[in-house]
Amino acid sequence: MKSRVMMSMRRFWGESDPGVGNVRLAGRPVELRALYNDYSNEARRVLARSGLWLAVPVYVLFLITDLIFIPDVSHVTIPARFLIGGFSLVILEFQFLRQRRAGELEATCAAAVVLGYVVWLVPALQTANAEAFSYYAAFGAIFMMGVNLFFSLEFGLALASSGLIFATFLLSLTEFHYSSAYCLAFATFYLCCFVFTSYVNWKLNTERFNVFLNAREAELQQRQATERGEALLRLSITDSLTGMENRRAADIRLKQFWERWRQDGVAFAILLVDVDFFKKYNDYYGHQEGDYCLVTVANALSDIVTPLGASVGRYGGEEFIVILDLDRGEDALALADAICQGIEALDIVHAQRLDGFGHVTVSVGATITRDVVGTKLENVINEADRALYSAKASGRNCARIFDPNELPGGDASENIAAILKIAIQQNLVSLVYQPIQYLETGEIGAYEALMRLQLLDGSNSSPAVFIPIAERTGAIIELGYWAIRRACRDLLTRDIVETVSINVSPIQLRAPGFAAQVAAILAETGVSGHRVAFEITEGVDMEIRPDVLGSIQDLKRLGIKFWLDDFGTGFAGLSWLRLMEFETVKIDKSFLHDATGSDGAKILLEDIIGLVRNRGHRILVEGVENEEQFDLVKSFGIDAVQGYYIGRPAPPLKHPIAVRHAGRRLQASA
Ligand code: C2E
Ligand code: MG
Ligand code: MG
Repeated sequence: MKSRVMMSMRRFWGESDPGVGNVRLAGRPVELRALYNDYSNEARRVLARSGLWLAVPVYVLFLITDLIFIPDVSHVTIPARFLIGGFSLVILEFQFLRQRRAGELEATCAAAVVLGYVVWLVPALQTANAEAFSYYAAFGAIFMMGVNLFFSLEFGLALASSGLIFATFLLSLTEFHYSSAYCLAFATFYLCCFVFTSYVNWKLNTERFNVFLNAREAELQQRQATERGEALLRLSITDSLTGMENRRAADIRLKQFWERWRQDGVAFAILLVDVDFFKKYNDYYGHQEGDYCLVTVANALSDIVTPLGASVGRYGGEEFIVILDLDRGEDALALADAICQGIEALDIVHAQRLDGFGHVTVSVGATITRDVVGTKLENVINEADRALYSAKASGRNCARIFDPNELPGGDASENIAAILKIAIQQNLVSLVYQPIQYLETGEIGAYEALMRLQLLDGSNSSPAVFIPIAERTGAIIELGYWAIRRACRDLLTRDIVETVSINVSPIQLRAPGFAAQVAAILAETGVSGHRVAFEITEGVDMEIRPDVLGSIQDLKRLGIKFWLDDFGTGFAGLSWLRLMEFETVKIDKSFLHDATGSDGAKILLEDIIGLVRNRGHRILVEGVENEEQFDLVKSFGIDAVQGYYIGRPAPPLKHPIAVRHAGRRLQASA
C-alpha cells in the first residue's frame, strides 16, 4: 500500500523534483485527497472501531441520568440505548472484518451518534418531568462534540451529522413548548456548539492533511536521497565502458571471497584475463573500435563465467578479473581454457598482432587459494598475475595456472620486493661482468653487466627471480640508474674495455626523464655514450609504444647503441627489427643448445642467423659453453660470442689496469 502511494506521489510531483508540497498541491486536491484517503485508510479504520467501542458503553451508561431526570420514559430510552449501541457495533464489526474502507466505518459511527441522539430525544420529549428534561436537553450538545471532535470524521460527514443533531434539536423545540427565553438560550447554545465544534473539526482535518503532506514529502525526499546515494555508489563501482564491475568493486569482492576463505574455508579461484596485443589493436583500429572490442570481449566473458556463479569485473585497461568458488586447480585451468577458446571464437580481426595471428585472443592467469601459512590476499592476486605473465610468456592465447614451484611464493616475493627497496643503500646489489668476444679479432671487445642481489641471510637471488619483481614494483628504475653508473665507473671510466652492455628493461625506457638521467650519469662519470650498449630483451612486455621509441631515439642521440637480447624467445623480435636499428642482435642461447644434438635445430639456428644477417645487424650468439658450440657458431660466420666457454660472469678487478681492451685480464682474474 505504502509503495503504491509513493508511486502516485511520485507521479504527482514528478520523478526528479518533488517540489514544495503545499504550493504545488493546490492545483490537484482531488487526486491528493484520494492519496490521503488511501494512505490513512488503515489507521482511520482502527480509530473508528476503537472510538465506537469506547463511545457505546459511555452512551449506555447515560441510562443512569435517564433514570434520574426522565424515569417515566426510561423504560423506552434505556432499551433504545442498548439497541442502537449494540446494533451499530455489530454493523461496524461486520464492516471491519469485511475490510470495508474507513469512510464506510466512519459513516456507521456518524449514523450511530445521530440515531443515538434521535432515539433518546424522541421518547424523552414525552416525559412528564418537563423541568428536569429542560436541563437534561443540554446533554444533546455532547453528541455534536462526539461527531466533530471525538471521532476523526471527515469534515463533510461531521458537518452533516452535527447539522442533523442541531436540526433535530430545533425541531424538538417546536414539539416541547418551552418559554421563548429558553428556546433562544438553548438554540444559541446548540448553535455555538455546532459552529465551534465544526470549526475545530475543520481545523483538525486540515492539520491532519498537512501533516500527511509533510510526512509524505519528507519520505519522498528521503527516498530520493537514498536512491541518489545508491546510484552514486553504483556509478562508483561500475565500469562506464563495459557496464561491468570496476576495479574498486573487484577489490571489494576479493575481500569478501578472502574473508569467507579465512573464516569458513571456502576456496576460490582468481582468473586474470588480458587481451593480447590490445595496445596495437587500439592504435591501429582507433579508440572507438578498441572500446567496441573490449565491450565484446567483456560480454563474451560474462556469458561464459556468470552461469557458473562467478563475479567478473574490469580490472585494468584490457584486463578482466573473474572470481569464483572453486577448490580444484584443474577446474580453474579448464575454465581459463574455455575463456581463451570463447574469446578466440569471437573472430574479432586483429591484423596488427606482433605474432601474426589474425584475431583477438586473451591470455589467462589463474590461481586457487591454498593453505599456506601467513599468506595474504595480495599474495593470491600476485600469483594470478604471475600466472598471467607466464601465459603471456608462453605465447599468449593460452591459460596458465600458478605453479608455486616456478618462482618464489608470496612472502618470499614480498621479501625480495622489500629488499630491493634498500638494496642500493645496504650494498646488497652488485654487478658482475661477462666477456663478449669478437671473432674477427679474437679480442674481448665488450662486457655485459649482469646484476646480482644478495639476500639478508647472505644467499643470492637469481636475476630470473628478482628482476621480474623489480619490474613489477618499479624498483628496476632506480636499480637501473645505479647499474648504468656502476658499470661506467667499473669498466669505462677506468678504460678496462671499449664497450659495456647493460640490460635495460622496457619499464625503464618508459620512465619519464630516463634519457635525461642517463645523459646526466654519462656526464658525471665522464663516459661517452658511444661506449655503452643497452640490451633490450625481446620479452613479454615489449610493446612498441611511442614513449618507448621516443626514449630510445633520445638515447641514440647520446651515442648509445641498442642490442636486441634473447632474440627468438618472444614474438616482438621481427617487428622490432623492422621498426628500430639495433646495432647487434643476440641470438638466444636456447637455439645453440638445441643445435648441438640435432641437425634440424642446427639448420634452424643457421636460418635465424641468415635472417638477421640479411637485415645488416651484427650477430652475437649467447650461451657458448664448449669448443664444439664455439666451432659451430664460428662456422656460421657470426660476429661475436658470449658464454661460459669465453668467460663466466665475474666481479670487476679490485684495481683494474687502465688499459683499453684489457678484458682478458678481467676474465683471467675471475
Ligand atoms: P641475459 O641478459 O640474456 O643474460 C645472460 C644470462 O645468461 C645471464 O644470466 C648469464 O649468467 C647467463 N649465461 C651466460 N653465459 C651462459 C652460458 O654459457 N650458459 C648458460 N646456461 N647461461 C649463460 P643471469 O645473470 O642469471 O641473468 C638472467 C637475466 O636477467 C639476463 O639475461 C637479463 O635479462 C636479466 N638481467 C640481469 N641483470 C640485469 C640488469 O641489470 N637489468 C635488467 N633489466 N635485467 C638484468
Ligand atoms: Mg643481456
Ligand atoms: Mg640474453
